[in-house]
Amino acid sequence: MTRYGMAIDLNRCVGCQACATACKIANNLPKAITYNTVYTKTDTDPDTFGTAVVHGAIANDSAGGEWPNCTLSFLPVQCQHCDNPSCLAVCPTGATKKREDGIVWVDNSLCIGCRACIMACPYDNVRSFVEGEPEYYLDVVVGEADAPTHEAGTVEKCTFCHNLIDRGEVPACSCVWRAPASGAISTTPSPTSARPSKAARIASCVRARVRPRTSSTWSNHDVYPLMSQGPFAGPAVFADA
Ligand code: SF4
Ligand code: SF4
Ligand code: SF4
Repeated sequence: MTRYGMAIDLNRCVGCQACATACKIANNLPKAITYNTVYTKTDTDPDTFGTAVVHGAIANDSAGGEWPNCTLSFLPVQCQHCDNPSCLAVCPTGATKKREDGIVWVDNSLCIGCRACIMACPYDNVRSFVEGEPEYYLDVVVGEADAPTHEAGTVEKCTFCHNLIDRGEVPACSCVWRAPASGAISTTPSPTSARPSKAARIASCVRARVRPRTSSTWSNHDVYPLMSQGPFAGPAVFADA
């Protein structure tokens, strides 16, 4: 059985927000809902994640620091499609489901909006509660015809674009800077010379607990060595046969 993972090479991310925008359009997401957040970081503090346009920040803040020691980096974050998802364990109705290929999704016809999954998920802002009737930027439905529906009082999150995966395509957020690619996922950590940042250490603990199948090359490049190869930014999808 093919199992999917997603790789995001932070060294190549330019913060263009194309992945977040493509996700919003492909899934006809309401104004208040986002499945994919690109954080902008303008300092070198390893304990913070920076700001995000979808959370009200000014688009792509100017670089921090003083010339010539300026810094600007970006971190796209979406559901990690954990192998051992906390959200699945707490869902009282079976609305949160996990497919054999590893994709975690929500059947909103079964969701009662209890938000236990949001509380249980170790990642911030990857699940969204649809508060009231959804409002849209446009009067017309956009995106894929088989995109998820959006119902008041339910919880949503990244679907790994399983509608696209199921017809042999790649997720809408696959990065504009490279062609889609697939390959074997390696979970063998590579040696690191520097002590990981606090954020990396927290991420490692979270990874050990829920074993995410989406990974960003944070400062220690320690999860999927394949990700740091090739001329790509991210997100890109990998599958093991
Ligand atoms: S990142 Fe959160 S919402 Fe996504 S599968 Fe893991 S626990 Fe569930
Ligand atoms: S909000 Fe919906 S998906 Fe989340 S735990 Fe409750 S019933 Fe399950
Ligand atoms: S995989 Fe699909 S649903 Fe998930 S963030 Fe990317 S575009 Fe959005």
